[in-house]
Amino acid sequence: MQDILTLLGITDTNKGTSTGAQWLASTGQTITSNSPVNGQHIANVVVTDAEGYEAVMQKAGEAFQEWRLWPSPKRGEVVRQVAEALRKYKEPLGKLVSYEMGKSLQEGYGEVQEMIDICDFAVGLSRQLHGLTMHSERPGHRMYEQWHPLGVVGIISAFNFPVAVWSWNAALAWVCGDVCVWKPSEKTPLCAIACQHIVAEVFAKNNVPEGVCNVVIGERDLGERIANDTRIPLVSATGSTRMGKAVGAAVGARLGRSLLELGGNNAIIISKDADLDMALIGCVFGAVGTAGQRCTTTRRLIIHEDVYDSFKNKLVAAYKQLRIGDPLDQNNHVGPLIDKGAVDQYLQSIEKCKKEGGQFVVEGGVLEGSGYESGCYVKPCIAEAQPNYEIVQHETFAPILYLMKYKTFEEAVAIQNGVPQGLSSSIMTLNLREAEQFLSSAGSDCGIANVNIGTSGAEIGGAFGGEKETGGGRESGSDAWRIYMRRQTNTINYTTSLPLAQGIKFDL
Ligand code: NAD
Repeated sequence: MQDILTLLGITDTNKGTSTGAQWLASTGQTITSNSPVNGQHIANVVVTDAEGYEAVMQKAGEAFQEWRLWPSPKRGEVVRQVAEALRKYKEPLGKLVSYEMGKSLQEGYGEVQEMIDICDFAVGLSRQLHGLTMHSERPGHRMYEQWHPLGVVGIISAFNFPVAVWSWNAALAWVCGDVCVWKPSEKTPLCAIACQHIVAEVFAKNNVPEGVCNVVIGERDLGERIANDTRIPLVSATGSTRMGKAVGAAVGARLGRSLLELGGNNAIIISKDADLDMALIGCVFGAVGTAGQRCTTTRRLIIHEDVYDSFKNKLVAAYKQLRIGDPLDQNNHVGPLIDKGAVDQYLQSIEKCKKEGGQFVVEGGVLEGSGYESGCYVKPCIAEAQPNYEIVQHETFAPILYLMKYKTFEEAVAIQNGVPQGLSSSIMTLNLREAEQFLSSAGSDCGIANVNIGTSGAEIGGAFGGEKETGGGRESGSDAWRIYMRRQTNTINYTTSLPLAQGIKFDL
């Protein structure tokens, strides 16, 4: 791992405040990054202090004045080169993601691939930031709209996607002409330091002004500083619903824009007409992938009574095959949770479920002994539960899967929608009528609704995000770029008179 850290520019103690190629001195404390894989200390990062933050904001403001004037396709060309650099560093960066965050190596590589994909998408987008042309009601007038760069975009990200979520925002923001200030999760600061080194090299080669890509390191208080900073017109925040409520309120109070990507409580409906073998793979990957620490993790299965027992037996058999251990060993399916605090939450949720009447058909527990020294490895477990249990309504960021039974399709949709969150959902069925009803306005209330694939994972081409307590934000593909720009409506009069709209008369 030492070779990889060196290659990615990480030393024993790293500066955590950067405006691009420059790393600014800060006098603050340090954050320690420990790997959940083996419990070992990886490196320290110096926290951004108030002075460092001001220096970054000053530089970001200056950089925006220049960057907004670059033609968008030229900005796209720089982002194309960022994608090339990420291709070059895919292996070491993917390994660092896996080592610092604990997800499987395949998923670490997948995360870097997602960064490459969004950069490629953004390159094309840089020539397509279209506005509309409208017909004016006044003769000799032309009306159209254009999209202008917005300014400084604050990005607050969660630990579970330590690099991809930032790139979803940054790649689009850059082609839109914005500059970014990124505060990564305090649990995964090294992934951010590595990304900053990779981007800075490309930016320097292209004479991109210092201050277009900024990183600041700190905990919740630094996130609050960003949320309250009136110089930041857009704050994109990914994390828990608790965090989103605080950020949304702070940004709203100053009438800024927020893009919130918060917790999920995702369900799959297993119809009696499902291909059960195919459904099994989607459910197991969705429930145990990233050790249940994806916002799109499958947390609930709503199973038709006719196939309930047979599908439950398949699941129990599949869980017996799971190999839990070092995520960098590609033979393992499930890695560790992020830290011991997450392990405590997992244990408390199991207890709570039992108290409410839940019956565990696959028991949970913390693994001990050789290979599990970090104390962060837990057993994925399955409980039979009722939809109204408090714990079932709550997102526990761990591999706990709840099974529920249904009789009618309407009942299944009501259970699926009957939680505060609204991120991802799916139905496994070969029945066309059911599939279409699930996707109709009377079906799933989530931002993502799938048929015959699981809830977990998404491609960058679609807009990503969810409703209700998931926060309502949309990132990544489709027209998600619009939130990073300001819309301006222009009306031009090319006549010699000045007719007013709505036929209003005003003579001097
Ligand atoms: P978290 O809310 O604890 O922290 C996320 C980030 O917010 C961190 O950088 C943290 O420092 C910062 N933060 C915390 N409180 C803040 C506040 N009051 N003001 C400003 N910043 C604050 O979340 P986490 O444990 O890192 O991540 C797990 C959560 O993220 C889960 O709920 C998961 O579902 C969610 N998530 C959602 C998506 C999505 O796209 N919907 C994607 C990934 C993760």
